[in-house]
Amino acid sequence: METKAKKASAKRVKNENSKTVASQTSRKTPAKKDAAKDLSDLFEDGLKDIYWAEKALVKALPKMHKNATEPKLKKAIETHLEETKGQVKRLEACFKALKKKAEAKKCDAMQGLLDEGKGIMEETKPGPVRDAGIIAASQKVEHYEIATYGTLAAYAKILKEKDCLKELLATLKEEKSCNDLLSKIADTNLNSKAMTQ
Ligand code: FE
Ligand code: FE
Ligand code: FE
Repeated sequence: METKAKKASAKRVKNENSKTVASQTSRKTPAKKDAAKDLSDLFEDGLKDIYWAEKALVKALPKMHKNATEPKLKKAIETHLEETKGQVKRLEACFKALKKKAEAKKCDAMQGLLDEGKGIMEETKPGPVRDAGIIAASQKVEHYEIATYGTLAAYAKILKEKDCLKELLATLKEEKSCNDLLSKIADTNLNSKAMTQ
């Protein structure tokens, strides 16, 4: 037989579930003084964010390279480091096209992804298992970049910023092929080795 307390708790859950989304949060997030006014501002903010992220990656990739064992993975990281340096330059070209100063603004998401990558390395021994962890962490980074460049390219298109669009699409292509290559390395070289460790 159901107890009184159980019945009361079930009723509470029912009430919670029947609340509308709108009534679940008390107020809207207040905007900062320098909040974006329009899509151009949001575009510029996005460029600053990914500019910070790419520069952080230029610093972080050598560490991943040092920790990787599989030659194909090491090579992929090496190649992507060079591409990433070029991506920083492309973003500088975007700022120039917009007649804005190239400015980096901390990307909390990339900081989090890099922290997670560091944690994965600490929790694995060098070899196939750490390599599998490095691939997982790197693919999360690439996915973040793919989402970011996809969005920024859509903004550039609607804002008719053709020069920026060209640069952003070139980088988007590199991020996608890096992600595909990492999947391939994991499938053909790594995950099965990591399984039998
Ligand atoms: Fe990148
Ligand atoms: Fe970000
Ligand atoms: Fe990338």
